[in-house]
Amino acid sequence: MSVEDHLLRIPGPTPIPSSVQQAMSKPMIGHRGTETKALLQRIKPKLKTIFGTGQDVLMVTASGTAGLEAAVVNSTSPGDTVLVLVTGAFGERFAKICENHRLHVIRHDIEWGKAVSPDVIQEYASKNPGIKAVFATFCETSTGVLNPVKELAEAVHSHTDALFIADGVSAVGGTEVKMDEWGIDVLVTGSQKAMMLPPGLTFLAVSELAWRIIEKNRNRPFYLDLVKYRDKLADDSTPFTPGLSLFMGLEQVLNLVEEEGLTKVFNRHHLMKEMTRAAFHAMDIPLLTNESDSSPTVTSVAPADFNPEQLRKQVKSDFGLDLAGGQQHLKGKIFRIGHMGYCSPADVLQTISLLEIGIQKLSKRDVIGKGTMEAQKIYLEWT
Ligand SMILES: *Cc1c(COP(=O)(O)O)cnc(C)c1O
Repeated sequence: MSVEDHLLRIPGPTPIPSSVQQAMSKPMIGHRGTETKALLQRIKPKLKTIFGTGQDVLMVTASGTAGLEAAVVNSTSPGDTVLVLVTGAFGERFAKICENHRLHVIRHDIEWGKAVSPDVIQEYASKNPGIKAVFATFCETSTGVLNPVKELAEAVHSHTDALFIADGVSAVGGTEVKMDEWGIDVLVTGSQKAMMLPPGLTFLAVSELAWRIIEKNRNRPFYLDLVKYRDKLADDSTPFTPGLSLFMGLEQVLNLVEEEGLTKVFNRHHLMKEMTRAAFHAMDIPLLTNESDSSPTVTSVAPADFNPEQLRKQVKSDFGLDLAGGQQHLKGKIFRIGHMGYCSPADVLQTISLLEIGIQKLSKRDVIGKGTMEAQKIYLEWT
């Protein structure tokens, strides 16, 4: 195995298509020049489609967490009461950012591996009439849960005057989202998950309702002031020197998505999830999430008869296959497979067949071919 043989199947960063890699190696351009202006003009409409919004999608050169922080700091003021729906490590991060900015945080914690029910919104709303914002994680990457953001947004708007703010990192680009129609007020994502780019960009879209609150906010930060990004982007520009190479790659990503068709992109992700889940069912290895709560972009596996950390080490050293472990209390209990972005059913079959070898070695159970065969059958049924 050469050092270049990497099979990156963690839930971010994810592999980069070679045409995107090439686009990012184009010569540098001036960020105030006509080339950047034209590039932004081409990118803007295509990004809106992925977010399901008529609003311009803002791009900030920073990791996804900066996008989450921007959403919090721009939309709230110290002392505001907010509700954070915590379904895993990333929900917890949202809560910590809110606490850091001296908000009054009401936490609703859900057992890791389960989705949050929209019914809880009404309960919290009746006990805390002044909630200013509700925060949720769309795909909880630490568990592989896809939370019902459409229903959550509906519940928030029917029972409160709060903004509904969603962390869409690892969801946007891999699963359908209709930000405007569903009533999401701020939707955030990052470049290195389903967006097929290296880390370094965070994307935010903001509803009319949220803009009215953000515009009046006197506590807006400097670098992460969303009004600056909005006003500059309206003029096909950015407030600061952006990650221009990432913008060049992004244009190619958007072209690839357009060529494949957004519906097909989402169907491919759904199929990859079904293939992965069927494979582990066939090998009699438990999954952390049930079918209805599961995300199309990441699957968490909770084996009973072998150590997931040992499996990760084994397949990494045998095949250069990178999988993620569990976070916090799930460390050593699960492993996670990313199947998002530049990933195909063929990649899933490869991952499963390599895992069968590792699992057979560790569990001493005869699993060779079992998961692969089931995944192949799912593929045939679907196509
Ligand atoms: C990866 C991820 C983040 C954090 O993004 P960074 O780019 O590491 O800051 C936030 N939320 C979710 C759901 C994620 O998957």
